Amino acid sequence: MTEKKTESKACMKAAVFYHAYEPLAIEDIPLKPLKSTDVRVRIETCSVCHTDLQFIDRGLATSKAPPLILGHEIAGVVEETGKNVTSFGVGNRVIVPATISCGKCLACKSWNETQCENLKILGNHIDGGYAEYISVDQNQLIHLPDEFPFELGSLISNVFVGALHLVYDRVNILQGETVVIFGSGGFGLSLLQMAKLKQAQVFMVDIFDWKLNIARDYGADGVLNSNKCKVCEEGVCDMIRGKADVVIETIGTPRTMVQAMNVLHKGGRLVLSGYSDNTIPFLAGRIIMDEMSLIGSVGAPMREIPDVIKLLKDRKIRWQEMISGHYPLLQINEAFNTLRMGHSIRTMVHPNQQET
Ligand SMILES: [Zn+2]
Ligand SMILES: [Zn+2]
Repeated sequence: MTEKKTESKACMKAAVFYHAYEPLAIEDIPLKPLKSTDVRVRIETCSVCHTDLQFIDRGLATSKAPPLILGHEIAGVVEETGKNVTSFGVGNRVIVPATISCGKCLACKSWNETQCENLKILGNHIDGGYAEYISVDQNQLIHLPDEFPFELGSLISNVFVGALHLVYDRVNILQGETVVIFGSGGFGLSLLQMAKLKQAQVFMVDIFDWKLNIARDYGADGVLNSNKCKVCEEGVCDMIRGKADVVIETIGTPRTMVQAMNVLHKGGRLVLSGYSDNTIPFLAGRIIMDEMSLIGSVGAPMREIPDVIKLLKDRKIRWQEMISGHYPLLQINEAFNTLRMGHSIRTMVHPNQQET
């Protein structure tokens, strides 16, 4: 184990969220003292995510009232360790998983960590990754393999492990099933690849051809630009020659959720994973008579991250094409603009780089 660091900086730069509809403010924030089992991580990458835009652009309330540091897709290097830290040393490369579960409640004890009574999401319940440093308990870190770049660590921390959880635990997609995914963004492309590993037929719907081209490259059996068809549902049913066994909605708008419902076959499963606080008008009778299932999926237990790392080491999942830009922390608001304009799959913020 590398030696523990003795002296350290007193302050760090962070992008702070104060109010919705305003850009994040770059500020100097005092570093928190480390508890004995805490690890301070120097953040190398934190990718910007649509969830952040729900807070900034749509006024969705964060669980902790602002001021708050957003950002939950984090990878970096151990900078400093508390005196009782045994699993990590200074210089270790790490993934910081997006959610922290308590390990003590009934949900945690029954392997349902995503429903933990005390669940904390970084950049929502507690400060997140748009900052030079974050400190977390040593049990909340995973080693990032040396051959994996930090960008990949950020993808693993949230979208890849979240997709694995949805496809394998929540829905259990079966071989030969027809799956339609609304949204060819970071999460959609991750789901596509996981569902292909299950040997499903997977079809992608989006409004950007360039994102759909990546989906096709990643093995989609068909793609549809819903802006180019009169009625989205008709376009989807033509493409898949019938209706779907599983539809996964990753966008989170009422319109796409209803469209997703409408392309489901009898007995189908509708999976909602694009966060929304809207009420969705569904015909209850259809859910009953067609025996449909409505499934929610959020995040993933961190114990599933090693499974994702194995898939990546075995080259079962591709990712390079998903990285669409790099920004230093000072330009984080520009990074969000790329997301707003649909120019981004995953844009990386590098809090410890002055320029990119
Ligand atoms: Zn995210
Ligand atoms: Zn718990």
